[in-house]
Amino acid sequence: MDDLIDGLSEVSCDVLVIGGGTAGPMAALKAKRKNPDATVILLEKANVKRSGAISMGMDGLNNAVIPGYATPEQYTKEITIANDGIVDQKPVYKYAQRCYSIIEELDSYGIRFLKNENGDFAVKKVHHIGTYVLPMPNGETVKKALYRQLRRARLLISNRYMATRLLTGNDGRIAGAIAVNTRTAEFLVLKAKAVILCCGAAGRLGLPTSGYMFGTYENAANSGDGYAMAYYAGAALANLECFQINPLIKDYNGPACAYVAGPYGAYTANNTGSRFIECDYWSGQMMLEFFNELQSGKGPVFLKLNHLHGNTVSEIEKTLHNVERPTRGLFHQGRGTDYRNEMVEMHISEIGFCSGHSASGVFVDEFARTTVPGLYAAGDMASVPHNYMLGAFTNGSVAGEDAMTYAKGVDFAAFDPAEVETERTRVLAPTRREDGIPPNQVEYKTRRLVNDYLQPPKVTRKYELAKRRFAEVREDLEMRMMVRNAHELMRSLEAASILDCADMAAHASLYRTESRWGLYHLRTDYPTKNNEDWFCHTLLRKQDDRMASEKRAVQPYVVPIADEEKDLYDKQRIRASA
Ligand SMILES: Cc1cc2nc3c(=O)[nH]c(=O)nc-3n(C[C@H](O)[C@H](O)[C@H](O)COP(=O)(O)OP(=O)(O)OC[C@H]3O[C@@H](n4cnc5c(N)ncnc54)[C@H](O)[C@@H]3O)c2cc1C
Repeated sequence: MDDLIDGLSEVSCDVLVIGGGTAGPMAALKAKRKNPDATVILLEKANVKRSGAISMGMDGLNNAVIPGYATPEQYTKEITIANDGIVDQKPVYKYAQRCYSIIEELDSYGIRFLKNENGDFAVKKVHHIGTYVLPMPNGETVKKALYRQLRRARLLISNRYMATRLLTGNDGRIAGAIAVNTRTAEFLVLKAKAVILCCGAAGRLGLPTSGYMFGTYENAANSGDGYAMAYYAGAALANLECFQINPLIKDYNGPACAYVAGPYGAYTANNTGSRFIECDYWSGQMMLEFFNELQSGKGPVFLKLNHLHGNTVSEIEKTLHNVERPTRGLFHQGRGTDYRNEMVEMHISEIGFCSGHSASGVFVDEFARTTVPGLYAAGDMASVPHNYMLGAFTNGSVAGEDAMTYAKGVDFAAFDPAEVETERTRVLAPTRREDGIPPNQVEYKTRRLVNDYLQPPKVTRKYELAKRRFAEVREDLEMRMMVRNAHELMRSLEAASILDCADMAAHASLYRTESRWGLYHLRTDYPTKNNEDWFCHTLLRKQDDRMASEKRAVQPYVVPIADEEKDLYDKQRIRASA
């Protein structure tokens, strides 16, 4: 194992991008193209070449707004309805207007999208109302193609550096970040005029039912560091009680990919092989029906393909077994499951924060600006709902361009150097102990408690107990956690982010005293939706060293929603008819 090296260096840049998965590379690229003379650094705790949710490719764009198939207005309407109306439409609308040009740009990088015999994009219908899914038959190339662009732009990439805290200037502006090398434990202070957080979802919050700590649905490197860093920098975080919970292949924990298989005729079914939900597009309401079916005598739930023609199944396998998670074919092979003969058992995921699939994230406006001047966020950790991969690319672009414009107009913010020393003391504390609790045990305990107490349906008494248990874990983490090398040091920092996210999840959930977003925020003590008091966002932030929540009004809609359309996503269950 690597030795710990006591070192500290300092660098400066105009724009610092933290997280080199999907949104981050695009943000860095656009910032650099906006001002080629400026310095842009892309910082990544793994290696940008193969990091993030798209590291092994992606099978399609879940939310492409393509002329001829959909309009920005239709898309904005659909996402608003899917989120129970609690949406700031401006960022969603801006995404919908811009995402087509990003598809064209990705196409020009060599990432091929499904086209029909006329050479037009072949978009498929999966959502409840509109048509937005664009398959990517050679989606395994996405990360490689993106990386080529970064090399071409000669971007400065710092791999194996994990950002631990943001630096805030004396005037409240962002001043940069502190990072630690994941192989040597050396420190790096990055002074920056603007910082863009692209650290992905908080994907290691709950524990998968398989029991494997890294067998998460999300990219396992995404331990919620971005959410924690934003919190400590004083930024507001929106709707954290709107958890992410996804349908999965049981024990494999990868998506069942009804989005890929659905357009070919596959669907989600119960143990009698019957369809029970109208639409396989993921939403809280859909997850609630899924959960209800699992709990009923009609569970488990399955992905049904065994009624399809063999050639159709082969076509589906070509995508599902090669792109995104290429181990999927091996998993089925090991179990002897052939889609042609039997249905594939599904389950529901552990909880997490992720705007990519739901709506919880660091609050941003339509320019990807957070509430801290000079601090931006994009991708799964920013609050634009149902972002997915194209949202990460598009809003990453928006963030990169706006951050560069901002950086041009300001100088470096002065900060107190004592902040760096305080952070070094915090980070290195577990290395100073001779004996203690290893970080994986702290993490395991936190995540087991998350499953025991926070997994919906949410019960107030359980949440109160969770807060007490988390406080006990925090004492262990701060007083007794011990690490022996740089890798364990990274794990200890991740354990701290996970605990911070667990605390935020509990706090935000207790604040909203109603039920909303189907299973995502189903409170047994407040089982109904209460539009009178709670048709609003919630914002959580650090105030006087404590967590505080407040309401934020939903901003006037850009695209109006008719009364009869508002609850379309509530009608997910297929009704029996004669
Ligand atoms: C299994 C799965 C299937 C999906 N399928 C689809 C699909 O078919 N279609 C679709 O449109 N979308 C899909 N998505 C969603 C899409 O992949 C994501 O929305 C998108 O990739 C998120 O991009 P991001 O940049 O926010 O996060 P990521 O791409 O995950 O990047 C985050 C990066 O931040 C780095 N990082 C984290 N913390 C730190 C730190 N402290 N310091 C430095 N670096 C850090 C991580 O290592 C990582 O590289 C899927 C997601 C998953 C997980």
